[in-house]
Amino acid sequence: MTEPERTISFHVPWMDDQGVQHVNRGWRVEFSSALGPYKGGLRFHPTVDDGILKFLGFEQIFKNSLTGLPLGGGKGGSDFNPKGKSEGEIRRFCESFMTELCRYIDASTDVPAGDIGVGGREIGYMYGTYKRLANKHGEGVLTGKSPLFGGIHLRPEATGFGTVYMAQHAIEDKLKRSLEGTRCAVSGSGNVAQFASKMLIQLGAKVVCVSDSNGVLVFEEGMTNSDLEQIILAKTVERARLSALETRVSGKYIPDHSPWTLPTLNVDFAFPCATQNEIDGKGANLLIQKGAMGVFEGANLPVTTEGQEVLRAHRDVLYIPGKAANAGGVGVSGLERSQNASRTYWKREKVDAMLKDMMAGIYQQMKDNAGEDGTLEEGCNRAGFLKVAQALKELGWVY
Ligand code: NAP
Repeated sequence: MTEPERTISFHVPWMDDQGVQHVNRGWRVEFSSALGPYKGGLRFHPTVDDGILKFLGFEQIFKNSLTGLPLGGGKGGSDFNPKGKSEGEIRRFCESFMTELCRYIDASTDVPAGDIGVGGREIGYMYGTYKRLANKHGEGVLTGKSPLFGGIHLRPEATGFGTVYMAQHAIEDKLKRSLEGTRCAVSGSGNVAQFASKMLIQLGAKVVCVSDSNGVLVFEEGMTNSDLEQIILAKTVERARLSALETRVSGKYIPDHSPWTLPTLNVDFAFPCATQNEIDGKGANLLIQKGAMGVFEGANLPVTTEGQEVLRAHRDVLYIPGKAANAGGVGVSGLERSQNASRTYWKREKVDAMLKDMMAGIYQQMKDNAGEDGTLEEGCNRAGFLKVAQALKELGWVY
């Protein structure tokens, strides 16, 4: 279970706007197919290597298991840096990446989706290339597509919304209160951060910050809907940095910090939604000192091992790992496969109801598997693992 069934690596040659050729590395880690086809995102970021994809793929196995859908685990991507690239460069890179990847994927074998640096635009270019090479629409081969050609409604929102739905369950059940009026720190300003912020605002919470890799935008009185619109515009259309936004929003930009290094920002609940290893031991201790009551991982593995030890030592602090908290994204991707297989479209309200139901189901599995004295984190790890282990036995792959 700890070793990928297969790892594919390949070259991705592409040409920049000046006519200079570049060659990046691409990978697909097909980790476990015990529960279904390999399923997991593609990440384009300069830090990507086979080690990072391996740990993300490993997490993905158990996350997918928790959704209750027949999905195996995988992850892929490239060390290509999309920052500062033109539309044409992004398109040419995606076309080249899919030219290699297409021979390994199929609706019943391996179904990639987006992740850091891969959103609807990149999925569109890759799917367009797949269609040309395969001469078939084969909708179920990629998820996160535009609803114009098979994509499901609410997929962009699903990870962020699902993380907040999960937080809602835990806060109401364990703390007997609601999110309303609480101060919630969100890190990142990409897909997951944007829609976690949107749902938090909708539920009456104060989003006190978002961030990118250069700094934090702090909203002491809480982000407004108009602030959020500006952030979404800047990140998805203008592709701008948060530092360029200070004059357009009510927040204050603080460079060279993350939400977890700001000593005076008061936080009730933390929603790390940027990347791995963003909250270290010091950051976790700072959250505890400020009286934070919960950490809900929108990102994958955002808390370091030392940070996790700090959180585990405070059993009254709710800590829900990404494999449960952010499972709504892959869950709705799984639903996109079902929608494609039935060659139809589902209404947004129907998908939202299914997402809510899925997050409630995952919360219940965590509680059931935690037992009398266990934490939600322990319950989450047990629930995810047991199904995969049982499947390996029933398939005759472990005896
Ligand atoms: P995204 O749209 O590309 O946004 C990523 C955000 O994180 C950006 O604001 C980025 O800032 C920031 N970031 C990236 N690397 C960073 C670093 N080293 N230090 C500080 N900030 C950094 O990606 P996303 O889809 O929101 O994914 C965010 C996290 O959620 C990842 O851990 C991903 O694996 C996880 N996740 C995503 C989904 C999904 O459906 N998208 C599902 C499950 C889990 P810059 O612009 O400065 O790089």
